[in-house]
Amino acid sequence: MSDLIDRTGLPPRFWERKPLRDLSRREWEALCDGCGKCCLNKLEDEETGEVALTRVACRLLDDATCRCAQYEIRHQFVPDCIVLSPSNIDDNLYWMPATCAYRLVHEGRPLHDWHPLISGDPETVHSAGVSVRNMTVPEFAVDEDDWDDHIIEEPL
Ligand code: SF4
Ligand code: SF4
Repeated sequence: MSDLIDRTGLPPRFWERKPLRDLSRREWEALCDGCGKCCLNKLEDEETGEVALTRVACRLLDDATCRCAQYEIRHQFVPDCIVLSPSNIDDNLYWMPATCAYRLVHEGRPLHDWHPLISGDPETVHSAGVSVRNMTVPEFAVDEDDWDDHIIEEPL
C-alpha cells in the first residue's frame, strides 16, 4: 500500500536536526508513524488519573489503514479531537502511546526501526505489530458503559 502520509522530499533525519517547534507543517505530519493508537478511546480513573487503553476506536478511524477517514475536516465530526502541537505535548504525555513518534522525539529518543521515516516503508509499522490494524471495534458498536470490557495492553 502506498504511504497515506506524504513523506516525500523532506530533509534527511529532519527530526534529529531541529526541535519539534521548528518543524514545517509537512515535516510535523510526516513524523506520525501511522500506528492509529492515539485514535483509540481511553478510560481515565478519576481518582488515580490512571489511563487504560481500549480497542474501541474513534468513529472516524479506518481499521484497515489506521488513518483518520476525514483527517482534514475531522473536527466537523469529532470536535474534541486533539490537535497535537509542540506547545501542548507536555499536557498530553499522560495518555500518549509509548511508541508515539512525537513522544519519542520530544523526549530526545530515537525513532524505532519500523517507523516509516526509518524503514522507508509505511507497512513496517503494521508488520512490526505496533499498529491497531484489524484489532479495533468502532465506538458506535459498543455502548460506552461497556468500554471497560475492551481494555487492552498497548501493542508495542
Ligand atoms: S500515536 Fe503518535 S505516531 Fe501513532 S498515529 Fe498517533 S500521532 Fe501518529
Ligand atoms: S477524529 Fe480522526 S484523528 Fe481524531 S481521534 Fe478520530 S480518527 Fe483519530
